[in-house]
Amino acid sequence: MWQDGLPALDPEGRLCWQPVRTPDLFLGLAEDGPRFSAIPDGRHDLRTQFATLNLLQPPDAPLFAAALSLGNWHRRHGFCANCGGGSDVVRGGWSRRCPVCGAEHFPRVDPVVIMLAEHGGSVLLGRQPQYPPGRYSALAGFVEVGETIEAAVARELGEEAGIAAADVRYVASQPWPFPSSLMIGCTARALGSALTIDTTELDDARWFTRAEVAAALAGDPAAAFLPPPPYAIARTLLDHWLHA
Ligand SMILES: [Zn+2]
Repeated sequence: MWQDGLPALDPEGRLCWQPVRTPDLFLGLAEDGPRFSAIPDGRHDLRTQFATLNLLQPPDAPLFAAALSLGNWHRRHGFCANCGGGSDVVRGGWSRRCPVCGAEHFPRVDPVVIMLAEHGGSVLLGRQPQYPPGRYSALAGFVEVGETIEAAVARELGEEAGIAAADVRYVASQPWPFPSSLMIGCTARALGSALTIDTTELDDARWFTRAEVAAALAGDPAAAFLPPPPYAIARTLLDHWLHA
C-alpha cells in the first residue's frame, strides 16, 4: 500500500497491505499468501525514503526494496531499447516484453563496492558534500564493466583517496533501491597511509582510530565523527571492523 510514493507502515514498522487493483508487481509469498504491489508513482524524496528505512522492520525491507526498485525501473523503461516500441509488463513485473520486435528486457542491478581500508589499526572514512555536518562514512563507487569486485575496491581507493590496497575481503551486501544498486561491503588493507583526496567526490577523508570509531558508534556526543545511520551497510562494516 503506497501513500504519496512511500510505503504505508503500521506503528510496529511493518508494511500495510490492501487489495490492489493493478497487481503489476509480484513481490513474493508471505505466510498468509502472495504479495503484490501496484507500480508506485514517482513522487518521492530520497530523505523521506531513507527515514522509511529507519522505521521498517527487517523482514519487510526486501519487499520494500524490490517494489521501489522495480517501480522505478518500469517508469523509466516504457519503451523497447532495441526498436523503440512501447513494451508491456510481463512475468509478474520482473521483465518487460516488446510486442513489436519480441525483445525482452529485465530490470538491472548496479553493483557498488563500499569499503573500509585499514592501516596500522585505523580505518579510512570519507565525507561526501551532501552528508550532514560531522558525518564520515565508508568510501564507495560503482563496479565498472569488466571489473572484479577486488579490482573495483582497489581502483576506488586509489581514485578517491590516493592509496594502494590489497587483501580485499567480502563482508556483507545490501540492496539499495535508489534506484537499483547492490552494495557490496568489503574491507581492504591499505599499503600506506598518505592520502591524496579527490575533492570532486569528497569533502574530506581521514583515518580514524579504533577508539574514535567505538565512541562514534556508541553515540558519544564528543566523538570524532557522526557515524552512518543504523540501516546503512557502512554502519555494519564499521561494527564488523570494530569487533573483528
Ligand atoms: Zn522492440
